[in-house]
Amino acid sequence: MGMRDPRRFMNALKDMGIDTYVFNKESASTLPLLQKQAKDCKKCGLAATRRHVVFGEGDSKARLVFVGEAPGEEEDLQGRPFVGRAGKLLDQLIERIGLRRDEVYICNILKCRPPHNRDPEPGEVSACKDYLLGQLEIINPKIICTLGRHAYNALFEVDERITRIRGNLTKFKGTLLLPTYHPSFLLRNNERTKEAWEDMERLKQLLH
Ligand code: SF4
Repeated sequence: MGMRDPRRFMNALKDMGIDTYVFNKESASTLPLLQKQAKDCKKCGLAATRRHVVFGEGDSKARLVFVGEAPGEEEDLQGRPFVGRAGKLLDQLIERIGLRRDEVYICNILKCRPPHNRDPEPGEVSACKDYLLGQLEIINPKIICTLGRHAYNALFEVDERITRIRGNLTKFKGTLLLPTYHPSFLLRNNERTKEAWEDMERLKQLLH
């Protein structure tokens, strides 16, 4: 087996029970190792107010990764992403693709909750971004679906409005990326739900 397909190579290592493979001297090579690093992270001020680091969860070999904004109150309490009302709606979006929640991977730009659910600050995003980049590198999905403007803007380091970018298929570091609305936004703007359904149909087609 060659190294031409890094995803297959890493998956083969995992299948052999080898969960430690170092890409380079800085990065952790598996999700559990990366999660261990994040667990006690104090790289930004959110460490002082969080209850739990919400690293992310799902299939470590997922073909589809959802990236949201940051944990909310319920997520901070439970240490899991998208567990509140928005999480229920995300589950419905995933079902629309014909998948289960445990068949995808779900995470956020920020791993700790901003107080009162305020927007992420640029310093927090840059402090936390390596965890997300590590997750994406390790999972190596076929498609990334960003939820809301913050996830998209953080990855591409731009400042776009969600209504401008939503549904525009693009690529991030060579991986297909489809931006859609954040489920919390959809709860407040029901009239946009139809567009989100369309995005899920698109993801379904792209995954086949
Ligand atoms: S938000 Fe990210 S960078 Fe900040 S303390 Fe939490 S894990 Fe560390």
